[in-house]
Amino acid sequence: MSTLDKVTVLGGGVLGGQIAWHCAFKGKTVVIYDISEEALDRCRGAHGQYASIYLAEIGASEQDIADTYARLTYTTDIASAVAGQDLVVEAVPEIPELKTKVYTEIAGLLDARTLIATNSSTLLPRDFAEATGRPGKYCALHFANLIWTLNVAEIMAHPGTAADTLTHITEFAIEIGMVPVPMHREQNGYVLNTWLVPLLNAAQTLVTNGVATPEDIDRTYMIVNRGVPRGPMGVFDVIGMKTAYDVLAYWGERNDDQQMLANAAYLKENFLHQGKLGLQSGQGYYNYPDPAYADPDFLSVPQISSASDIAARAMLT
Ligand code: NAD
Repeated sequence: MSTLDKVTVLGGGVLGGQIAWHCAFKGKTVVIYDISEEALDRCRGAHGQYASIYLAEIGASEQDIADTYARLTYTTDIASAVAGQDLVVEAVPEIPELKTKVYTEIAGLLDARTLIATNSSTLLPRDFAEATGRPGKYCALHFANLIWTLNVAEIMAHPGTAADTLTHITEFAIEIGMVPVPMHREQNGYVLNTWLVPLLNAAQTLVTNGVATPEDIDRTYMIVNRGVPRGPMGVFDVIGMKTAYDVLAYWGERNDDQQMLANAAYLKENFLHQGKLGLQSGQGYYNYPDPAYADPDFLSVPQISSASDIAARAMLT
């Protein structure tokens, strides 16, 4: 039986909101900390959507949903959010300086026994271990977006992580219904993002450079991977444009990758500046709740009468 029952999630955004909801659904007592009431309201809104999804898709009862809500607390008070907790899951933006600041801020507020796990997508726990003030009690526990169905939890230590920390984190992951995936060494992006980030960056390059439309990129992907629910541009929407931008901007800068920086700039100009944050805000590459890729005809062979329009789009620009 896991000893990690009282959990705080730092950052109630796209992933923090899902982690908090899912942990509460699985019986954990969960505090969500965010920096503003607006952010907490967005999180509450997302939880309303998850309640509907859990009822419709994973067999939750109305009582399960009421119990989940009863186990959730939302706060902007950091000290009370983290005091006396068993586990703190950090899900703040993918910006190294910001994560360091948050760890430093909470270091003196935690009980000695509290474990910390980062949900970072592409950074390494070794980069933050010292800032936590408790390196032995710190590792990465990375969840996938759409946590209730894409239930992998990647576990990554840094050289100073204690063995029993990894045991408790693994037990915790299993208790909340995850398939744990241990990394044998530190790796930016774990398993999942080692291929997903390059895939998304490559797809975005096609859009940024005007090679093909987002719909045609997704159509191609969905036909050759028959059965998948969306293509890479649809995945951008699920991830959220803010985090997609943070990842491409940081790694573009760090690797002096001009194409990746151009891709980040494209996301900033065409989405962030327009308030289109992806699925959670209702608009990204697609409009929700009925994105074009979910239309049964999205992958159909077109009518012959549309050939001239398609051919016109094949004229080189
Ligand atoms: P997000 O932008 O949707 O949410 C981040 C939240 O953190 C926001 O609500 C923001 O208000 C809050 N925040 C900002 N500063 C804070 C602070 N000082 N203290 C506490 N909260 C603060 O980002 P996200 O997509 O949920 O990503 C969060 C983390 O999860 C990142 O490390 C990201 O790489 C990782 N992650 C994201 C996904 C994804 O698909 N979006 C998947 C797996 C992991």
